[in-house]
Amino acid sequence: MFNAVLIERDDRPYRAAFTALDDARLPAGDVTVRVGYSTLNYKDALAITGKAPVVRQFPMVPGIDFVGSVEASDNPAYRAGDRVLLNGWGVGEQHWGGLAQRARVKGEWLIPLPAGFTPRQSMAIGTAGYTAMLCVIALERHGVKPDSGEILVTGAAGGVGSVAVAVLAKLGFRVAAMTGRPAEADYLKRLGAAEILDRAPYAGAGKPLAKERWAGAIDVVGSHTLANVCASMRYRGVVTACGLAGGLDFPATVAPFILRGVTLAGVDSVMCPRADRLEAWQRLSRDLDVDKLEFLTEDIGLSQVIDRAAGLLEGRVRGRVVVDTSR
Ligand code: NDP
Repeated sequence: MFNAVLIERDDRPYRAAFTALDDARLPAGDVTVRVGYSTLNYKDALAITGKAPVVRQFPMVPGIDFVGSVEASDNPAYRAGDRVLLNGWGVGEQHWGGLAQRARVKGEWLIPLPAGFTPRQSMAIGTAGYTAMLCVIALERHGVKPDSGEILVTGAAGGVGSVAVAVLAKLGFRVAAMTGRPAEADYLKRLGAAEILDRAPYAGAGKPLAKERWAGAIDVVGSHTLANVCASMRYRGVVTACGLAGGLDFPATVAPFILRGVTLAGVDSVMCPRADRLEAWQRLSRDLDVDKLEFLTEDIGLSQVIDRAAGLLEGRVRGRVVVDTSR
């Protein structure tokens, strides 16, 4: 038996429970992992609360991330005892995920625990942090450098935002952190933000073009915020879009793209090719200060996950949440 969060939807309404499950219920897969830590991402909170149709099959164990040690493997790449990490691939959405003490998955979805991090630290980063790194790499690939100008990070006090601020600051960028939580200004400055901006002016409908300010931007909010970010980019600025915390819509005009040569680069972590994942994790081990990672992380037990999920969607969770599956 193992403990897990289980989401069910049948003749009774959508619900999540902390429960004990029989190993025989684990899904098909060639590697069985004893999960040490998982994490609570925005998508996990959507799955647990049922606020968006993230879960495609029921019953479902949520958890898009986990780290642990291999218990049994029919995959030649892994042996019992190997320390492995998983991000995405539909795990926690269409295949039982990491908010559990045990998981069985396809070995090809796993990567070895990245060098330089403890298992717990790898989950402090989790999908949110690895996505922040993918966004930074996308900015770099489009030519954005520290001397190009200021970088804007939206949703800055959240998981993706906090890691993005810390990494960009370490790389020497001047970072403006946009937040709806002015009380977190000191937190964001300690992560490396040079300036704190109120998110309210970007939250409503804006003009097709605004004053040029940002050389690069990492947006996790979407909707009007993303449209206003695009409108305020400098000539040939680059925006990475990875989130929808403010909405799935994109009420923009083409003006920034055709008049200022702005690039809008989409970032997806779920189906991201293995080589790009490995590159992102390797860059994290170089470009993210472990002290800052500790500062932006809080720890909870598996039994507390359901209670915290609603708060995360309401913007009441700061930075990253690690889930210890032993408690
Ligand atoms: P968090 O909940 O940790 O952070 C989201 C932040 O967005 C909040 O802390 C808040 O920041 C801000 N925010 C929330 N609601 C609103 C709103 N209505 N309007 C404006 N800002 C808002 O989530 P994550 O950082 O884990 O994820 C952020 C987004 O990125 C999510 O939409 C998630 O689904 C997406 N994502 C996408 C991935 C991909 O592969 N494309 C991978 C990982 C995440 P503040 O309080 O500072 O204002």
